[in-house]
Amino acid sequence: MTGNSIPENTMSQTAVSVWRNARVATLDPSMSGLGILEDGVIAVQDGRIVFVGAQTELPAEFGHTADSIDCKRRWITPALIDCHTHLVFGGNRAMEFEMRLNGASYEEIAKAGGGIVSSVRDTRALGEDELVAQALPRLDALLAEGVSTIEIKSGYGLDIETELKMLRVARKLGTLRPVHIVTSYLAAHATPSDYKGRNADYIADVVLPGMERGHADGLIDAVDGFCEGIAFSVEEMRTVFEKAKSLGLPVKLHAEQLSNLGGSQLAASYRALSADHLEYLDKAGAKALANAGTIAVLLPGAFYALRETQVPPVQALRDVCADIALATDCNPGTSPLTSLLLTMNMGATLFRLTVEECLTATTRNAAKALGLLPETGTLEVGKSANFAIWDIERPAELVYRIGFNPLHARIFKGRITS
Ligand SMILES: [Zn+2]
Repeated sequence: MTGNSIPENTMSQTAVSVWRNARVATLDPSMSGLGILEDGVIAVQDGRIVFVGAQTELPAEFGHTADSIDCKRRWITPALIDCHTHLVFGGNRAMEFEMRLNGASYEEIAKAGGGIVSSVRDTRALGEDELVAQALPRLDALLAEGVSTIEIKSGYGLDIETELKMLRVARKLGTLRPVHIVTSYLAAHATPSDYKGRNADYIADVVLPGMERGHADGLIDAVDGFCEGIAFSVEEMRTVFEKAKSLGLPVKLHAEQLSNLGGSQLAASYRALSADHLEYLDKAGAKALANAGTIAVLLPGAFYALRETQVPPVQALRDVCADIALATDCNPGTSPLTSLLLTMNMGATLFRLTVEECLTATTRNAAKALGLLPETGTLEVGKSANFAIWDIERPAELVYRIGFNPLHARIFKGRITS
């Protein structure tokens, strides 16, 4: 704080905060690479960025603010964005994890009540307050690493009431912490046991009417599905997407995770926000995503936890200039991961993404994957002042280090939150 008085010509407006003496990775797409300012300043007013640029170019009226924060040459990046999570669920699957390590078969685990059915059972059984209480530590772990926007899916209810309950819990989380929560309706995640072998009936009885109700209640920001041999076919997902389209809701899809069914082509044909997982994506699928502007969201946590060996076709995505995002896929079964920093390291180590690709994947491209680029994901004038200040010497440290959190402060809508 400098203690300077506010100039009279700005007295009528809210005070401007100036974050100075920083190295800034703006991720501004009009700049090359990470959009770096070596001697950068960010000015914030009413929660929005009103100036970002070199210290020497700071407009005089912002130079006299009483609220001036010396960043002591620390690095500032856009706040991180986790664009694919299943953060809300009941219970956990540590027991089956342990059973598997002790040599139990899939059947033995299923017999003991494990697998997705256990998450469905626990999520159905818990009330909203209990689900909130169980989700908060996971949410807080993400926030502690500079995350300020998080997508949360339903998909462990598989009946209308519980799917909507999960979405209400997700919305509630956004009121309890300084964070922007975005919801996805994922009733087409799996077929519940009472509809076994009757996917079409499940879609007609639960997925579609639940979508209508959730939309009417303002609970759904996008519609998602799991397109896979063990889940829903391309044609079944088309029915779900047609309904979403009729309601004006954007779509996204878990696609090409365990096999190549062509889900990405379907997603692209609906101009989906994103297609996610993509280990088995082929060149035609990559091209379709790029042409549609559909973001390729890679989820190395699930790849790691499942000990997969089929790496997503990163070079094919680069060749067609598809945008790549990274996310935790935080979920109890296949990616019990609540670190976006570790996710970036996995993206680099397991998928050979570059540092620039990893940082773009958790900021600008993650914002695109949520349809939020006009609001967040880069540090540009007019956007929400969501940024992270790091105790690092170069951005590569955010990707390189494992199990280390160098966050100095997280700024959400212009306010210091940690
Ligand atoms: Zn997922």
